[in-house]
Amino acid sequence: MPYDPNNVFAKIIRGEIPCKKVYEDEHVLGFYDIAPQAPVHVLVIPKGAYIDFNDFSQNASAREVEFFVRAVGKIARELDLPDPGYRLLTNNGANAGQEVPHFHAHICGGKPLGRMLAN
Ligand code: 5GP
Repeated sequence: MPYDPNNVFAKIIRGEIPCKKVYEDEHVLGFYDIAPQAPVHVLVIPKGAYIDFNDFSQNASAREVEFFVRAVGKIARELDLPDPGYRLLTNNGANAGQEVPHFHAHICGGKPLGRMLAN
């Protein structure tokens, strides 16, 4: 399946729809989730056109990967999340329930989050 340039995060990157931005550099954008599932819920995306983690981990440049990983850490620290902790996750594909086909990581925190997966 090719990358869909009309997915909602591609539109956010192009500035066609707004977002509440928390972070930006040349390769990465961080913004609040529109339907937060925790007191703090931020999405971190590469600006490059990658469908999911499988795509990003194979096809992104070393520079893009480094910027992404470092941005996640910076955002979490900016939001005072490392202590007492936060959850970092990415849904990859249908079985994970990925809704938006542009690779993104969720940073969730602000309260104890319970078990990782619902029963
Ligand atoms: P996924 O299920 O693909 O891992 O997560 C997609 C996330 O994107 C969901 O948590 C959803 O609330 C969020 N989302 C969908 N559309 C928008 C939007 O237009 N703006 C923002 N900020 N978040 C969105």
